[in-house]
Amino acid sequence: MYDVVVIGGGPTGSSAARLCAEAGLSTLLVEEHATIGYPVQCAGLLSNSAFAECEVSNRSVYRTVSGAKIFGSSGEPLSFDAGETKAYVVDRGTLDHEMAERAAEAGAEFSLKTCVTAVNEEKHCIHTAGGEDIPYRILIAADGPRSVCARAFGVPQSPLVYSGIQAEVLYETDTPQVELYPNAAPEFFAWAIPVSPNRARIGLCGTKNVPGLFTAFRRRFTDMNVHSVTGTIPIGVRKQTFGDGWILAGDAAGFPKPTSGGGVYTGIRSARHAAAAAVAAIESGDCSRKALSLYEPLWKNDFGRELELGFAALKVRRTLDVADVDAGISALNNPEVLRIITEHGDMDRSSDLIKRLLMRPELLALGGKLGMKTLLRMFL
Ligand SMILES: Cc1cc2nc3c(=O)[nH]c(=O)nc-3n(C[C@H](O)[C@H](O)[C@H](O)COP(=O)(O)OP(=O)(O)OC[C@H]3O[C@@H](n4cnc5c(N)ncnc54)[C@H](O)[C@@H]3O)c2cc1C
Repeated sequence: MYDVVVIGGGPTGSSAARLCAEAGLSTLLVEEHATIGYPVQCAGLLSNSAFAECEVSNRSVYRTVSGAKIFGSSGEPLSFDAGETKAYVVDRGTLDHEMAERAAEAGAEFSLKTCVTAVNEEKHCIHTAGGEDIPYRILIAADGPRSVCARAFGVPQSPLVYSGIQAEVLYETDTPQVELYPNAAPEFFAWAIPVSPNRARIGLCGTKNVPGLFTAFRRRFTDMNVHSVTGTIPIGVRKQTFGDGWILAGDAAGFPKPTSGGGVYTGIRSARHAAAAAVAAIESGDCSRKALSLYEPLWKNDFGRELELGFAALKVRRTLDVADVDAGISALNNPEVLRIITEHGDMDRSSDLIKRLLMRPELLALGGKLGMKTLLRMFL
């Protein structure tokens, strides 16, 4: 019997498997696809800290970005550029593959083309589509947004589930900035992420009319579609993240950041905490729910508050119409605010910046319209 069975070979699963194997636990990673990293369901934008968490070489990096432009309906975009690398644009297939290689080098075993269809919580055993039963002491479920494991344990889905559509298109970009278009996706934002000087990944997310919104958005760009992806982003932490012999991590737990939809950073952070809880449980010989309860304070103390505040900010964003967004963009478009954004912007921990912006007189002057009072109460 393996000490730890990890389900899912994404960044969360490979990190968890590597850390467990490095700690000397017998570890098996089970992945339904024949190749790690494909199909890609990601824009591949990773902050400096997210990329550092991956602990890989620069092999997957296409380019770096140093700022962003936020476009309203008309006029000048809110444009900021730190003049230094703030994020990496990566090929997720290559990145995931390298992370899995590192887990294998650490001693984790892999079972590819193996789809988990059921989990028997009492017997501590997974069942695969091939009819195999694999017993475990601890199961780390890193099987993504539609987690079969979470369903098997009776844990309800995240409160919001966004669908995303993205295409890689020919697009001339002369600045190392990500472009954001809040009005193109009323529940979130649309993006154009430069992959090279003449290519960008354009996409958006939401719960309603996502294909229609995407068709309208992509009219701004050339028709030359190089590659398309679709995917799901769970927003909001699931009600339960551990149980008797099991832990949910990454997207399977609902850990993507509500302000950006990015889930690689929190996924890997959660993998670290899952591995720490698993190692402690195996060492103590107790893999019960009580022993694994160590996991929850670890992830909560690390990024729990960020996710909570991010969810509150997203709820307010979902109430804003085009006029509100435009008013916010033009109110913030001044040198002092741009300095604050450049200095305090952190893609993975955005609550500090949001708090600073909420206290700016330019936004306070917009009154309760942007939900400022509610947010201020939460953030301060
Ligand atoms: C359009 C889009 C754009 C995004 N852009 C970004 C971005 O720019 N930056 C960012 O940080 N995040 C982004 N995300 C989110 C990011 O892709 C996820 O948060 C991240 O991949 C989560 O990693 P994970 O390892 O938890 O899950 P996943 O990467 O989803 O990996 C789960 C793995 O489990 C496997 N699996 C699933 N079910 C089973 C099963 N039953 N049996 C065996 N294996 C199974 C899957 O095949 C998969 O390999 C984006 C998401 C979408 C949809």
